[in-house]
Amino acid sequence: MKSLRWGLIGASTIGRERVIDAIRQTGGEISSVFSTDSQRGAAYANEFGISWSTTDLGDFLNSPIDAVYISTTNDLHHDQCIAAAKAGKHILCEKPLATHLADAVNMVTACKAANVVLATNHHLRGAATHCAMRDAIKAGKIGKPLAIKVVHAGYLPVHLQGWRLTNPTAGAGAILDLTVHDADLMRFVLDDDAASVSATVQNSGMAIAGVEDAAMGVITFRSGILGQFHDGFTTKYVQTSVEVHGDSGSLIATNCMTQAPIGDVLLRTAEGETKLQLQHENLYVRTINAFKSAIAGNGKPLSTGEDGVASLAIALAALESARTHSVVSIPA
Ligand code: NDP
Repeated sequence: MKSLRWGLIGASTIGRERVIDAIRQTGGEISSVFSTDSQRGAAYANEFGISWSTTDLGDFLNSPIDAVYISTTNDLHHDQCIAAAKAGKHILCEKPLATHLADAVNMVTACKAANVVLATNHHLRGAATHCAMRDAIKAGKIGKPLAIKVVHAGYLPVHLQGWRLTNPTAGAGAILDLTVHDADLMRFVLDDDAASVSATVQNSGMAIAGVEDAAMGVITFRSGILGQFHDGFTTKYVQTSVEVHGDSGSLIATNCMTQAPIGDVLLRTAEGETKLQLQHENLYVRTINAFKSAIAGNGKPLSTGEDGVASLAIALAALESARTHSVVSIPA
């Protein structure tokens, strides 16, 4: 397959720490960076050996690139995605797709109309741990799944303690940052959709008043499976995990809600405990390889635009539930 020519929308930390390297590992060429700040864009391009940076989105989209990676703050994804789709570019967009559900739906519609691929960067679908759990459930190893529990709490690194804690317009808060990933992951592992959500949030003082820096909640899936999540920025010594409990076995993954290709999965049944064999690989490389294949007409992205809409619907319902102290239904 020919190498993809990429442009980056956003001189972001996640690009710096994970995605630029992953694009290059998949054979992608990064030709340009769009930033709203010419000095930041130029410094970023220089840091990564990218030949061109610009503050003009029109010029950027008119340049010879096949795909864009959008990793600006969440409020900007929608307009940038629509512009990129109109310019005929394939789009890998960061999560959450948008801050409003109608915007995310609009993004999917615009990409369909423009016949370009839209992928949501829910990288946790690329984890060997989660793929192994999904396969084990499909193979009947735990019988009928009854419950899933996700611990995705941790401590927000100091260099990320910016808009996530202070800027509601940009999509601040643990729910749009972390619960949205859990929602996608649970849908993926269970192959099920959410019916309703009930959540409670905490502000321990790390985030500004009115923004949650931790959340817990329950998602009821259409099959009846109960899903529990614990997300947060404030706890330094938590171990992340995903547990799925069925009527004849349990799967317990540890150290798995992370950006790194690590973690273990234990299968516990009447026969005892076995560690599943895992093929660990860079999660972002897997995500980008699936995106590339989808562009070439083979299969779908690991997490599609529609998946990004579904995870956002759950996250927004969790926020509404916390605000209204009620169980919020998710539209089919
Ligand atoms: P950053 O804060 O690093 O970057 C977001 C935007 O902030 C950039 O596009 C940039 O704007 C601007 N910016 C960058 N540095 C500065 C600075 N020093 N001063 C002022 N503005 C600055 O965000 P993240 O990389 O943490 O997150 C970006 C997106 O990626 C979000 O949607 C987030 O949810 C998602 N994300 C996804 C992860 C995943 O694993 N899937 C992990 C982490 C984040 P400009 O482009 O105009 O220069």
